[in-house]
Amino acid sequence: MLIDAGHLVVPSSGAVLADQRVLIEGQRILAIGPDLDAPPEAERIDLSDAWLLPGLIDCHTHLCFGVRPIRSDRQRELEASVLTYTASNSTAWRALQGAHNARAMLRAGFTTVRDLGNAGAWADSALARAIEEGLVPGPTMICSGKALTPSGGQYASGIVPPERPGLVGIDWTVADTRERMLAAMRENVAHGAKLIKVIVDDQRCGYTRDELAFVVEHARDAGLAVAAHCVTDAGTRRAALAGVSSIEHAVEASRETLELVRDHGVVLVGTELSQGYLEAAGAPPDHARELHEQVITRLRHAIELGVEMAFGSDIMSDIPGRDRGQLALTILDSYVEVGLAPLRAISMLTRDAAKLLGLDDDRGDLRVGLRADLVATSRDPLQDIRALRELRLVMQGGRVLALARRPP
Ligand SMILES: [Zn+2]
Repeated sequence: MLIDAGHLVVPSSGAVLADQRVLIEGQRILAIGPDLDAPPEAERIDLSDAWLLPGLIDCHTHLCFGVRPIRSDRQRELEASVLTYTASNSTAWRALQGAHNARAMLRAGFTTVRDLGNAGAWADSALARAIEEGLVPGPTMICSGKALTPSGGQYASGIVPPERPGLVGIDWTVADTRERMLAAMRENVAHGAKLIKVIVDDQRCGYTRDELAFVVEHARDAGLAVAAHCVTDAGTRRAALAGVSSIEHAVEASRETLELVRDHGVVLVGTELSQGYLEAAGAPPDHARELHEQVITRLRHAIELGVEMAFGSDIMSDIPGRDRGQLALTILDSYVEVGLAPLRAISMLTRDAAKLLGLDDDRGDLRVGLRADLVATSRDPLQDIRALRELRLVMQGGRVLALARRPP
């Protein structure tokens, strides 16, 4: 297959090359250059007026989770909706819901995702396998399985009654001692996890730096990265010092802590939700603004300080009329708001994300030998990154999934 590309956006060099051809054989890029010839029988795709980029990567999804908008800013009510959802939907149903979301993500250009738990009894692994075996369409999924958590899980309001601790175990594995942490990691690996996720500080008495270092050490021995869910400044600091691979959210991280994150080579997956999404998910406007301002300020600091970052969406709500792929791309509104350079955003969505996933020798860039996961836009994404919301082409492993007509 030969693609005529008007503009080729290469994340690793930051170059935008004009009038290039990309030759694809099987699942891989065979050659790139201005004057390539293909065998006469080769299929041709004319994107001579479009921008061609690597397929997008979302480093923070929850495909097998989705609650309806809840109009509240009260922690206990928000947790009640999660509790009701997890307690009343089977893992089987959540796998099907995941399949629906996976297809939407792929249509939006996401050819790879890192799925960070909240999937019941490993619906994430089942879905990853179904996609790999071609049963359902979707991105390549790198899954964490059940996140390790101190007692209480991510329920911090005291909503889980003491006589029902098992309610936490539906979506998390409670691991309060090193022995249990190790057992939880082994259980996850046995069920297909490719990385370990830890909930650091949703509970006031969260994981210590030593406990996190214990997880990191044993995960590393098994060849697994550790993703740390952190909200507080202190929790972010403990996780960075423990040597985790990535910190998710870091909502309250100070400039000093972000410097520490940077100096320890930890990647920030900031999941800076847009105000529009937060409101659509049910947050009252004042509360949505407050939450959004907090992450936007932190994003500005991270950019100024040169923290390594990768794209993550963390979409967990099902908004009527919007699919999961469209919602994931609402994060771009936050990027535009802080003036993040489009080329940096593209790198965070492709090469930097692939690097975090340990897949940069396989995908996330445009070069010979890499997987032919590609997207194309009609408008220049370097002028406006939101051009990624209207794709002309989605290609996964050399297979065309969607090819829109040239706009009039
Ligand atoms: Zn999340």
